[in-house]
Amino acid sequence: MQTESELEIYIHIPFCVKKCLYCDFLSFSCGKEIKSKYLRALINEIKTFEQTEAARELDLKAQTVTSVFFGGGTPTVIQKDYLGEILETLKEVFRFSEDCEISLECNPGTVDLEYLESVRSYGFNRLSIGLQSALDKELKRIGRIHTYEQFRQTYEAAVKAGFDNINVDLISALPDQRKEDIDATLDKILSLSPRPQHISSYSLILEEGTGLMDLYEKGLLNLPDEDSERDFHWRIIDRLEKEGFRQYELSNMALPGYECRHNIGYWQGKKYIGFGLGAASYTEKERFSNTRDMEEYISYFGEEPEREESTKKELTKEQLKKEKPYSEKYSLTASDRMSEFMFLGLRMTKGISQAGFREKFGKDLTESYGKEIEKHIGEKLLCTEGDYLMLTRKGQDLANYVFSDFIISE
Ligand code: SF4
Repeated sequence: MQTESELEIYIHIPFCVKKCLYCDFLSFSCGKEIKSKYLRALINEIKTFEQTEAARELDLKAQTVTSVFFGGGTPTVIQKDYLGEILETLKEVFRFSEDCEISLECNPGTVDLEYLESVRSYGFNRLSIGLQSALDKELKRIGRIHTYEQFRQTYEAAVKAGFDNINVDLISALPDQRKEDIDATLDKILSLSPRPQHISSYSLILEEGTGLMDLYEKGLLNLPDEDSERDFHWRIIDRLEKEGFRQYELSNMALPGYECRHNIGYWQGKKYIGFGLGAASYTEKERFSNTRDMEEYISYFGEEPEREESTKKELTKEQLKKEKPYSEKYSLTASDRMSEFMFLGLRMTKGISQAGFREKFGKDLTESYGKEIEKHIGEKLLCTEGDYLMLTRKGQDLANYVFSDFIISE
């Protein structure tokens, strides 16, 4: 169960060396000048957070930050000193728990030992490395900037720099992929010494507007069918479970004790504040996201020239006059919160606690979702174990179908 006063923070760094062919995240490559303007604006957004409605609503003094996640984009394409400065600024505004998990996403080919030693010394204690595949032919096919060898060097440097909590990201169901390719990737990862403590493995999704979608529409992409996609997914999980990892969420596996605290927070409905372009926040009452327009973001949060040296944590009068630029903002109804509790919580393999539901919403789970639960238990998509309701393996394959039944429309 979450403690009510725990808070998570997400920092968005939207820069990448080059756009990968499958990527529809809010990320792009750009020059030094925009990067530094953006980072000044980001630091200013953090410094002025105390004046926002969200900070008042949260009662900042009552909050303890238990995890911080720097994602993107590729946070490690910016000068390392900025990462230290952002973290320091966060510590000036928020109270951190002593064992705060501080994660940094990184891509092979963007860091060296010196970079990683510095970020470790700033306090980052978890590194998430985007590998996606250990086969160079697959990396090339999806437009990654690096080879497996570059990943290996980054990994080695990370271990040497003192990181002992490392995630490796994988993507399966890649173009032309066969099960032998999956095995070859797993062989290589499992032969790393020491082994990574955490592995995320998502299936490729073709998104509108991406390079891969373009190739697909031209008939130039041979993708595994749905059965193979599921087959690859379970092949990865089964192999990793044999090697001591535990699947704790639909797409995430960890050695015991190394589950990602930050992501568990999302799935368990913990509050979080996002800083940066397009970054999303959740305060239990509301969800809102910053503007996705770089110019608008910089012009709102960017420091005025005469304030450059100032450390004052204040928004200027001009800024206060303007409405903070959101890309979305909405209040959550009780039904929204109930639906989210269900479809986020069921992503976790341990499922959702019926007692937890009662405590949060003041009524029994069966009172709100009796019919739906009965239906999915009958279809062998859901099952119970003690107080917990969870997806079966078949239910994980059809997770979206199950989740759609828990959305209450008013
Ligand atoms: S590195 Fe990640 S964020 Fe950047 S383009 Fe590739 S997939 Fe997108």
